[in-house]
Amino acid sequence: MNLYDVIIVGGGPAGLNAAVVLGRCQRKVLLFDTGKQRNKHSHGIHNYLTRDGILPGYMISLAQKEIKKYGVSFLKKEIVNAAKEKTGIFLVKDNNGTSYYAKKLLITTGLTDKLPSLNGIKRFYGKSVFHCPYCDAWEVRNKKIGVYAKNKNGFELALSLRTWSKTIIYFTDGKKYLSLKELDILKQYKIPVITDAIEKLKGSGGILKTIVMKNNRQYPCDALFFVNGYAQQSHLVEQLGCNMSKKKMIITNKFQQTNVSGIYVAGDADKDVHFVVIAAAEGAKAAIIINKELQKEERLNRISLLKYQKSEPDKGILNDKRFVSSSYFPEL
Ligand SMILES: Cc1cc2nc3c(=O)[nH]c(=O)nc-3n(C[C@H](O)[C@H](O)[C@H](O)COP(=O)(O)OP(=O)(O)OC[C@H]3O[C@@H](n4cnc5c(N)ncnc54)[C@H](O)[C@@H]3O)c2cc1C
Repeated sequence: MNLYDVIIVGGGPAGLNAAVVLGRCQRKVLLFDTGKQRNKHSHGIHNYLTRDGILPGYMISLAQKEIKKYGVSFLKKEIVNAAKEKTGIFLVKDNNGTSYYAKKLLITTGLTDKLPSLNGIKRFYGKSVFHCPYCDAWEVRNKKIGVYAKNKNGFELALSLRTWSKTIIYFTDGKKYLSLKELDILKQYKIPVITDAIEKLKGSGGILKTIVMKNNRQYPCDALFFVNGYAQQSHLVEQLGCNMSKKKMIITNKFQQTNVSGIYVAGDADKDVHFVVIAAAEGAKAAIIINKELQKEERLNRISLLKYQKSEPDKGILNDKRFVSSSYFPEL
C-alpha cells in the first residue's frame, strides 16, 4: 500500500507553494489538480512582488516545474471523496474510483466566482470585466468604470472604485434595492444609478466598450466590476466534517489547521484576503506545521514501535498492517 506523508488537493498558488516547502523537507507528497485556478482568465497577476503582470497559466507552469525538482508527485485528477479512517490515515478517491492514502491532508481547492448572467460576459472576464479592484483597477484608472450589482449590494464597491476613477456608473440590471440614504451618498459622489435591465456587453478583443440596455440606451464603459458572490470549488472539507463559517468559508486557525486533526486548509478556501501572495503564504505556513507534526509523530511512533516489538500494539496506525513497514519508520 502506497502511503504518502501528505496529499494536497488543489494545485493553485496555495497548493503549489505548500508542495515546494514539503518537497524541500523531503516529504513524500502527492498533489492533485484539475487546472481550474480562480484567476485562470485574468490578463495578469498584480500585487505579487517581482511577478507583476505575469500570466496566471505561466506562473502555474513555472511552479509545476519547481515541485517536480523537489520530487513531488503530481496527478491531473479530480478528488471526489475524502475520509479519515479509524487509524488516522486519510483516504481520498479520484473520479475513476482509485484510492490514495496519506498521513496528512491539505485542501487548497480555492473558490469560484459566480459570473453574472450577462450576454457576452465571458469574452471580457479577466480582461476588462473583474470583481477585485485591488487586482485590476489600477489598469483602468481614470477611465469610465461600471459597477454591476444585481444580486448583491454594490454600494461599497462603487464608492471604493472612486479611489481609481472619478467616472463611476452603477448598474442594478432591473433591480431597485438601494436605500434612500445610499442613493443620496452615491449622488454626492456623482455616481449615477441605472436601474434599467441590461441587454448585452459590447466591445472587441476582450476590451469592453459599451453596456447596451434592453431599452436600447447605451453607456460607454472601459471596464466593469461586479459583485455577485462566490462558492467553494470543492465540498471535500464538508464531507470531512470541517467547520465552516456562515459565509461558507472554511474555518482555520493561524497555522491553517481545521477542527479535524490532520486536515489543513490554505488559500482562498479559508477566511483570509483573496490574493495569490496570501494563498501562497498560507500554503507555506501549512507545509511547515504539517512537517513539524510529522516530525513529532515520527519521534513518538519510534518510541511506540520499540514498545510494540516487546508487547501489545498501541491503537492507531500501529494496528494498521498496511502501513507498519520499515518505509513508514525509516529510522528503524
Ligand atoms: C479574474 C481574477 C483576477 C485576479 N487577479 C488577481 C491578482 O491580480 N492578484 C492577486 O493576488 N489575486 C488575484 N485574483 C485572486 C486569485 O486568483 C486567488 O487569490 C488565488 O488563485 C487563490 O489561490 P488558491 O491556490 O487558493 O486557489 P486557486 O488558484 O483557485 O486553485 C485551486 C485549485 O484547486 C483545484 N481543485 C479544486 N477542486 C479540486 C478537486 N476536487 N480535485 C483536484 N483539484 C481541485 C482547481 O482546479 C484549482 O487549480 C484574481 C481572481 C480572479 C477571478
